[in-house]
Amino acid sequence: GSLLAAEGLHKAYGETPALDGAEFSIHPGEVVAVMGPSGSGKSTLLHCLAGIISPDAGTVRYGPYELTGLSDAQRSALRRTDFGFVFQFGQLVPELTALENVALPLRLNGTKRKEAERQAREWLERLEVDDVRGKRPGEISGGQGQRIAVARALATRPRVVFADEPTGALDSLNGERVLTLLTDAARETHAAVVLVTHEARVAAYSDREIVVRDGRIKDMLAGLI
Ligand code: ADP
Ligand code: ADP
Repeated sequence: GSLLAAEGLHKAYGETPALDGAEFSIHPGEVVAVMGPSGSGKSTLLHCLAGIISPDAGTVRYGPYELTGLSDAQRSALRRTDFGFVFQFGQLVPELTALENVALPLRLNGTKRKEAERQAREWLERLEVDDVRGKRPGEISGGQGQRIAVARALATRPRVVFADEPTGALDSLNGERVLTLLTDAARETHAAVVLVTHEARVAAYSDREIVVRDGRIKDMLAGLI
């Protein structure tokens, strides 16, 4: 069955509708690209699926949990243990080195310092940025920063990785490298990936793509059946 599934999602910001009956599902280890034009509701969908915001109506089920039925504290605990996040930019802690940034979520989950740093080191190697482990975010390139962000998102071995325009600030060569490393590492650890993007080429890294338009999922098979 599906790992994460949503039905009938509605969400409006004041008078502005963002989701208008969207549904979604993803299987363990599956990489789903969420495409669609700017303003179509992709980020709002991702935020509802991850329990960051609550929909006005509809359900989000993760394993045995109904996210909208959990308290804020239960939802944030679930995010810390089961979910990983990669955003477009501005996500690394500027005062911490690359190594400390990747070790941080492990420390927050109770891993001892030495072991957290050992695992962080492994993730930096896997993402090919071990050479900058002692540097701070202000001293490295955008592509290196996104690789470190991917290492940090995967270090806690999440069941679902939510990536919102993870390559939006990179040139195409660096972007493709980050997507390759992200999807390869996710597949190795059997993490599902919800990959939000408006770039068509990103779909090549996914198992399946869905298109959001005006807050709904456009059924791409409808014309074929
Ligand atoms: P996308 O990720 O596809 O660009 P969003 O989910 O960010 O789409 O936005 C969907 C719609 O909701 C847009 O009209 C956007 O301007 C609006 N919106 C998103 N977030 C907010 C917010 N926090 N406050 C007000 N309007 C918002
Ligand atoms: P994305 O590129 O992921 O769609 P945006 O740059 O549109 O994100 O939005 C960045 C942040 O601003 C998000 O937290 C989003 O919810 C919020 N936001 C988006 N549109 C609006 C809006 N019209 N009014 C207020 N906040 C918004």
